[in-house]
Amino acid sequence: MPNKHKKVLILGSGAAGLTAAIYSARANLKPILIHGMQPGGQMTITTDVENYPGFPDVIQGPWLMEQMQSQAENVGTKMITDTVVSAKLNVRPFELVCDSGDTYTTDALIISTGAQAKWLGIDSEKKYQGFGVSACATCDGFFYRGKEVAVIGGGNTAVEEALYLTNHAEKVKLIHRRDTLRAEKLLQERLFSHPKIEIIWNTVVDEIMGNTEGPMPEVTGISLKNIKTNEITQHNLQGVFVAIGHTPNTEIFGDQLDKDAEGYIITKPDSTATSIPGVFAAGDVQDNVYRQAITAAGTGCMAALEVEKFIAEQ
Ligand code: NDP
Repeated sequence: MPNKHKKVLILGSGAAGLTAAIYSARANLKPILIHGMQPGGQMTITTDVENYPGFPDVIQGPWLMEQMQSQAENVGTKMITDTVVSAKLNVRPFELVCDSGDTYTTDALIISTGAQAKWLGIDSEKKYQGFGVSACATCDGFFYRGKEVAVIGGGNTAVEEALYLTNHAEKVKLIHRRDTLRAEKLLQERLFSHPKIEIIWNTVVDEIMGNTEGPMPEVTGISLKNIKTNEITQHNLQGVFVAIGHTPNTEIFGDQLDKDAEGYIITKPDSTATSIPGVFAAGDVQDNVYRQAITAAGTGCMAALEVEKFIAEQ
């Protein structure tokens, strides 16, 4: 059980973690980045990416993350595949224990463990993920120009996504399991008055239908169940946006760090500093609002620059 000491340890290999790695490696801090079995974060479960600056043609999410990883390694980041099972942040240096039995101590820690979209958990949802089933309207809405889509959920995200999707889609059906929305009243008013939006109340998704025979799988419709009447209805549409919330990956830190009610790490204004000096958080693990690869990369850069300053001051 070797104990390895590092100046900087980065947890998570999405856009935030890899950008933090690129910057801290170039600052000669010799970072190590620990990532799980499927490196690359949420970008690896999306397909076409058209909104990451610098690429005039459509690129693939997994490809972009491979490029970022190669870039991080080329400038000196050591990537380690392991799962951190516990973190002790009340000692100096901080101590992290991995699934493999390896332990690491580090002077500074960048947490970029991301968040996971919550999914409905039905088989057909998984089958068409990235091919008509998405958890991000900003990322994928553009591909539904002139088409019909459904949004599942009744919170702020669902309503914002439904409104956003009207910029592209011909018709948007918002499907909610109850008869009142959780979203803010102002958003609700905009939703109710929008001519392209239809709200289907007291309804859950029974199945997502599609076609797997063409060159790429595609969604062709959705089967819905009214939970009051048990009536099943079928609707032809091409996209399903699941907007039932996200879960930040912060369990391993317990209550050592200040978190908000939903578990997102709280960072200081205009900073990635957390409630513990030397621990920084970047990307979706601390961002409940923007959740974009580019904003995650931006905060990853901030975290690395703040770590550099923190270490210099020690
Ligand atoms: P929320 O938890 O607020 O809402 C989730 C919605 O999904 C609820 O309507 C819930 O239904 C529904 N839901 C949950 N699980 C299921 C399921 N298995 N099947 C069907 N429906 C389900 O998540 P959001 O992502 O909307 O928002 C998270 C936080 O971020 C909130 O605090 C929100 O205010 C904030 N936010 C703020 C924004 C802003 O200020 N502009 C924009 C986006 C988010 P039910 O209502 O029945 O529980």
